[in-house]
Amino acid sequence: MRISPTRSLTYIQQYPQDVLITILNLLVPFTLIAVMISGDQMQSAPPAESLRTAWRLLDPLIHMTLGFLIITPFLFYHPATPKGILFAALLVISSVAADVDHILMAGSFTLQAITQVIPRTPFHSLSNALVVGLLVWLLTRKFSSTWLFFAVLMSHFVRDAYTGGMLLFPWSPGAFKITLSEYRSLEILLYLLTNLLIYSVTIRLPSAHGRWWRTPAAPKEPIQIPEVCRRPAK
Ligand SMILES: [Zn+2]
Repeated sequence: MRISPTRSLTYIQQYPQDVLITILNLLVPFTLIAVMISGDQMQSAPPAESLRTAWRLLDPLIHMTLGFLIITPFLFYHPATPKGILFAALLVISSVAADVDHILMAGSFTLQAITQVIPRTPFHSLSNALVVGLLVWLLTRKFSSTWLFFAVLMSHFVRDAYTGGMLLFPWSPGAFKITLSEYRSLEILLYLLTNLLIYSVTIRLPSAHGRWWRTPAAPKEPIQIPEVCRRPAK
């Protein structure tokens, strides 16, 4: 393996998609941090009455954005088939559908009642994410699909655990709170693990034989022996 600027340029020309994916991959963790910081900031204090409805919609919107960012490796590495896009949409919906228990607990469809269900229910727990993951495994027999569902649900539960959830139910039946830095670190960890896993199971990228900053050495050509040097066959 040799680092060669000339070969790297050739590689960039040959596989521009790899370079684009690399840049997007570098941007996602920063976007994740920016969404968490700005979202939490906007949610921390209720605005004037006229903006309350829009403010209440912020929470599901942030959950969906985090879920989407965590599954971006699936969108980057997986071929853009209608089935794949549908699967990705289902994952993003799942990241917010986890709040269905709020509707059940509130017994109402009004946004005000739903968002006031605090502390969260036992549904917002690691055990529930594991159960959903197990169901996905039984249906698909694919570890990557299992992990993706587990990761989007955990991104939701970890965020809610920061404001007081039941993340460790039934092992710790009471409310289980995590700190701001723990919540943000866990979200980034979920993204990194998803990226690592999806990259390792997807072979769509041409970079399967290298990366633009680290191209593999060209295969050695067999040495051609000139005709005159060859020993005449007996
Ligand atoms: Zn929730």
